[in-house]
Amino acid sequence: MLTAYLTHPDCERHQMGADHPECPERLAALRDHLLVKGLLDCMQEHEAPAASDEQLQRVHDRAWLLQLADQVPAEGYARLDADTLINPYTLRAARRAAGAAVRAVDLVLGGQAPNAFCAVRPPGHHAQRAQGAGFCFFNNAAVGVAHALAAHGLLRVALVDFDVHHGDGSEDIFAGDERVLLCSSYQQDLYPFRDSHPPAANVVLAPLAARSGGAAMREAVTQYWLPALARFAPELIVVSAGFDAHREDDMGNLGWSEADYRWLTEQVLAQAQASAGGRIVSCLEGGYALSALARSAAAHLRVLVEA
Ligand SMILES: [Zn+2]
Repeated sequence: MLTAYLTHPDCERHQMGADHPECPERLAALRDHLLVKGLLDCMQEHEAPAASDEQLQRVHDRAWLLQLADQVPAEGYARLDADTLINPYTLRAARRAAGAAVRAVDLVLGGQAPNAFCAVRPPGHHAQRAQGAGFCFFNNAAVGVAHALAAHGLLRVALVDFDVHHGDGSEDIFAGDERVLLCSSYQQDLYPFRDSHPPAANVVLAPLAARSGGAAMREAVTQYWLPALARFAPELIVVSAGFDAHREDDMGNLGWSEADYRWLTEQVLAQAQASAGGRIVSCLEGGYALSALARSAAAHLRVLVEA
């Protein structure tokens, strides 16, 4: 069985302006690199369906769905916040991005794929229950987690987030929900500027100092994430896979390399193999230096493909 690769052309039609870092070229660069490396040949490709209202409303308020639909412009851009814009295709792209996570969960839990990667945008982990923010509209990974719980009857799902920014939207949605363990690593004193105190027992934070490098991440993951994951024994691991902690990415300053993403993925895979039958659903979040994004995601995917 091959790793599933989910995407949709609508994900490249959402744009936020000519110079915006969260651009359609991110997906093209990733796909090109995976083709060149022969990795795409080792995966089964699926077109992402649009997430339904029911699937989205497991983690989002209906009012937010209506508000977003209302803001979609007929042409040009509408502004959600300082950095987050809506174009005529944004809502379609956001529904496909969340739908990819749903389909990926169905494929992996249905035994049709050992693991899956959603090559989608807009990203999701800053989207809270009642509002989008920080380039995000619907919380794709959270929609996938909620689908695994509600539609497949799982009792414990881990959500692992290694984007350089804290997944504050996922925290807003799942803090206090004991069916979910949220592990988040991120650079301190960076957007969204949350403090480092976990809001609930099911949230494990690994804040990292600027310029601390991959070694500090490995230490924090080994000390905080891995014991918590082992205790929780998830039946599925969903990953918010942001690659903006890479040393070539100007969004942050953590200085990670492709080898760090490979190591992290190997740790997640080891836990998935221990308690979840190896089942992993990974959703693209950040990563804005196109070459570094493509190489890092390839390092992540190679571990999944060879699992
Ligand atoms: Zn990010």
